[in-house]
Amino acid sequence: MSAALRPGQIHVESACPLDCPDACSLDVTVADGRVVAIGGSEKNPVTRGYICAKVRRYPEHLYGEARIQHPGIRSGCKGEGKFRRASWDEALGLVAARMKAVRDSRGGEGILPFSYGGSNGYLSQDTTDARLFYRLGASRLLRTVCAAPSGRAASGLYGKMPGIAYQDYAHANLIVVWGMNPSVSGIHLVPYIQEAQKRGARLVVVDPRRTRLAEHADLHLALHPGTDLPLALAGMRWLFAQGRADRAFLAQHTHGAEELARRAEPWTLERAARETRLPAADIEAFARLYADLSPAALRCGWGPERNRNGGSAIAAILALPAVAGKFGVRGGGYTLSNSAAWKDVDGMAAAKAEAPPTREINMNQLGDVLVRRGEASVDLIFVYNANPLMTIPDQERVRAGLEREDLFTVVFDPVMTDTARYADVVLPATTFLERTEISRGYGAFVMQKADAVIPPVGEARPNHEVFAELCRRLDLARPGDPETAEQIAEAVLASSRRGAHLRRSLDENGIAFLEEGVAPVQFVDTFPRTADRKIDLVPEPLDREAPLGLYGYQPEPETGRYPLALISPATDRTISSTLGELHRAPVPVAMHPDDAGSRGIREGDRVRIFNALGSVRCRAQVDAGVRAGVVFLPKGIWSHNTESGTTANALSPNTLTDLGGGACFNDARVEVEPAGPA
Ligand code: SF4
Repeated sequence: MSAALRPGQIHVESACPLDCPDACSLDVTVADGRVVAIGGSEKNPVTRGYICAKVRRYPEHLYGEARIQHPGIRSGCKGEGKFRRASWDEALGLVAARMKAVRDSRGGEGILPFSYGGSNGYLSQDTTDARLFYRLGASRLLRTVCAAPSGRAASGLYGKMPGIAYQDYAHANLIVVWGMNPSVSGIHLVPYIQEAQKRGARLVVVDPRRTRLAEHADLHLALHPGTDLPLALAGMRWLFAQGRADRAFLAQHTHGAEELARRAEPWTLERAARETRLPAADIEAFARLYADLSPAALRCGWGPERNRNGGSAIAAILALPAVAGKFGVRGGGYTLSNSAAWKDVDGMAAAKAEAPPTREINMNQLGDVLVRRGEASVDLIFVYNANPLMTIPDQERVRAGLEREDLFTVVFDPVMTDTARYADVVLPATTFLERTEISRGYGAFVMQKADAVIPPVGEARPNHEVFAELCRRLDLARPGDPETAEQIAEAVLASSRRGAHLRRSLDENGIAFLEEGVAPVQFVDTFPRTADRKIDLVPEPLDREAPLGLYGYQPEPETGRYPLALISPATDRTISSTLGELHRAPVPVAMHPDDAGSRGIREGDRVRIFNALGSVRCRAQVDAGVRAGVVFLPKGIWSHNTESGTTANALSPNTLTDLGGGACFNDARVEVEPAGPA
């Protein structure tokens, strides 16, 4: 809500493009060209005038000590974070010269652009940056650290059909929140869940931790990490076996129902109970509730994809509303990512370059790639919109790569991240409040445009300007290339069949909505975006891709030596690792009292969490809200949050999910021991 203004202050509208589903409309208070406060505005009808505590602290991000104010060239050792001040001309001259040298000596594939998630804005990624790296013939990055398996599964079954709108959860009589914690991410769903509960709706939460939402659930299924697939298949088997599958819906709207039933058949309640470590009666209670209550809204998060079976798990979860016939009514169906609702807007349209036939590099295996020498090496990495040292699995191998003296590293970021400390050149980037941006939610069905609220801090520049300048310096610019924010916005919006409407709506109101309206109902207003508008329950490409076939279960990776499952979900402090510089307090590892007691660990003790990949030293938090056999160290923390400077990613394998090449963070298996006094 807007705060009252003091003399000299003004309100300026903006919109949040950070990696969060909600896409809040913002009301920014500005005085003398500086942001003094940020709150929500009513423009986005879903977020309704309030924002998260994370972004309320954004002024500290803008003006804090970690802000990079001008270009810098390394003057200390790699990782030390020491830079001498440089002009933009000198810094970009050096970067362009090194790019040219790598391309000329061993080809463009020696260059790796690395970006992910720092902004979901159309203007800060896949524009002039893609043009530069495509025309250079650089290696191509597969952006798979999040949402790749779920995207593959959703596309395979439904062609990425838009999901239930947040506001329609208020109409549900059963809500299932599976592998997601909306109390800390995508927070605007919570009031709609509460509204439904006040009406008498039942709530089921599937999560290894007793989250705030789980405390208010009618049924909390605290499953063992990585066993979402057995749980979903057992629920499905029960529906088929008890005659509760909606045969009429399956016959009319799906392919593959019999094959799906055949694949679910081995998953008795008892077998699923052994894998999930849940009581069989609880799994049955879930299946019964799901069969009995309608409308039933299923909110599927990204937790279930973060393991070896992640793609199949998401596919099985998303198949449940089809099997039980939950579509066709307001508040019925599922929500995953709604980004594809804007599928006819081509985010790459401003690049004006074709992807070259160069090698693809899966970002989850960055460490392996960076430590390589010889012909297959990467000799120059350009990091923007990302902090890979803190966000990519197998952290110590990523660090070893960044320590290579013969790797030239450029980091273009608003703040001095842990990755930036390893840079040879740092470049100051604008935040979304210092540039024009167009962004869309992947929860809320809105697209918004916002102009700069303040001038750039220090010498910061927007992404599109810097990459356009590098194109010019490397003789890669061509007449007619969109280079300004206005030209890029025009190219992106013009790619849509509704481009003129979107443009008008964004220019006049700052916001645009889907063609299907603000809250389309699945199988009424919106249908699967498959060739025949039917759900493909066992799509052949997915079946071929998964190592054991779609819905095939790869067993628990626990070993006698490393018996605890490490999970690293999001918290209410950071958006992935964004804003991590603002949270300097030590972060503990949470563990169940039984696991702590059997290891002689008490609340607040120093501990070492370790496996064959690495170790983390921090304090212990003894917490009965974490299920036994599981330990929890949050996602998105920075090196200053632990004693060792390492985080959960130092313990995460760089193995890949069954579909989509995703990250298997939740397959980390570890041991914890007392670390003694400091
Ligand atoms: S991070 Fe999410 S909840 Fe927070 S302001 Fe941005 S869109 Fe809103």
